[in-house]
This record gives sequence, C-alpha cells and structure tokens, in this order.
Amino acid sequence: MDFFTKVGESLTNLGQGVNAKAKNMMDQSAMNSQLRQHETALKGLYESIGRQYYAEKQGKGEGAYADLFTQIATTEAAADEVRKKLEAAKSMVTCPKCGGLTEAGGRFCKNCGNAMPENNPGTNSTPQS
Ligand SMILES: [Zn+2]
Repeated sequence: MDFFTKVGESLTNLGQGVNAKAKNMMDQSAMNSQLRQHETALKGLYESIGRQYYAEKQGKGEGAYADLFTQIATTEAAADEVRKKLEAAKSMVTCPKCGGLTEAGGRFCKNCGNAMPENNPGTNSTPQS
C-alpha cells in the first residue's frame, strides 16, 4: 500500500468517524425531542389527575393534600387579583394634558383634574391649557 492510498484511507475513516458522530448527535437530538414529548404528556396527565381530584373534593383537601389545596386556593385568588388589575390597566387612557394614565370613561383626569374629552379619545386629542 503506497503512501497516498494510506492517506486516502485514513481520510475516508476520518470522514466515516465524522458521519457516525453526526448521526449519533442527530439520534440524541431526536431522542431528546421524544423524551420531551413524553414528559409533556406525563405532566398533562398528572395535572388532569390533580384537577379531577381537586374538583371531586370541591377544594377541601384532606391529610397530605390539605396544604396543597390551600396553596391552590391562595394562588387562584392571587391570579384573580392580577387578572382584575390587568383588565383595569387595559381600560386606562392617557390624559391629553398631563400624559398620565386615568380610567377610561371618567370625566376628569385623576392626576391633574383636566376635563377628559368625550369618549376618551386620549392621546388623539389636542392638549388643553
Ligand atoms: Zn391629567
């Protein structure tokens, strides 16, 4: 076997090594993806059990579940509060005079007392002085 054949062969082996490595990487990536799918499905199933049990017990957890049930109730209440605040924030308009946020539909700006334009066009109206 001459030198060039040897070099050519070792390059081919090197190439196969790279291909095998790349294939291994792709296999791992596919398996990771499958694993994530299974884990997501499991999470959903466990969640379903929890939701069904919570509904069955009508929020009254016993024994080891009591603390978790309390945490759910507390968190639901906190989420509800944020939901309401978010709704309120969405219904705010900008005062044309001071640029502050005030409740939509209000006749006067809560920050500066400026008479708000009808229908609260907010930023679209010309500032009054
Ligand atoms: Zn204002």
